[in-house]
Amino acid sequence: MKRFIDEGKTWDSFTHAPVLVVCPFCQNKAQVFQQELLDQPKKSHVFSCLSCCKTFDQDQQQQNNLGYFDEINVEINQTCTCKRGKYYFSQSYARPSILPPFIKLNCTFCQKEQVYNSPYTLLTYKIPRKSGFKINKDPFFGYRLYLTTETRHGLIFVYNMVQLNDLKAYISAELRQRTYTNKNKAYLSRLPAWIKSARNRKEILKAILRLEQMATTIQLLTNK
Ligand SMILES: [Zn+2]
Ligand SMILES: [Zn+2]
Repeated sequence: MKRFIDEGKTWDSFTHAPVLVVCPFCQNKAQVFQQELLDQPKKSHVFSCLSCCKTFDQDQQQQNNLGYFDEINVEINQTCTCKRGKYYFSQSYARPSILPPFIKLNCTFCQKEQVYNSPYTLLTYKIPRKSGFKINKDPFFGYRLYLTTETRHGLIFVYNMVQLNDLKAYISAELRQRTYTNKNKAYLSRLPAWIKSARNRKEILKAILRLEQMATTIQLLTNK
């Protein structure tokens, strides 16, 4: 029997390895990593994209308004009248002005079409922060996490391969044991129930496999 010992790791504990993000300039895979400077006691974080060669720290990001800080997360998660399917949509936008005028979705079960019209009603579908499941952004620059994938139930995302391996070991384990008492900060204990449910194990493992492939795929540099 596969056993997983949950030591109560937090999201922050995975930021010691580079966090993979979507470059807001060229949309390719980029990294946010810790940089230790000899003359400064504080560790600073650096964004770096190998595809478009942009590199800067958080101060430079703020001074030069590089990329977005606070994006809008639009999420639609509505049960269809057929009661067996859902209308599901989740996407982040940098500014209100680029919100789509409407979003057309099909029920995942009966395929019936539904049009969601105003971006303002869409805004009411923001991911509730109190859920404790962080939204898919890096904690330093606010850029979208590269390792994000969609399932029927919602998004699965991790900072990097280190966290992905941890999540995979947890999901594949038949027996999960906890060695700590403070549940509030541990990321595994705060994952949504659908990720932890044994019923969804196969589907979640498939999603993890997709993320593994994304993490290891080497991007071809295009001459744009
Ligand atoms: Zn780039
Ligand atoms: Zn339906």
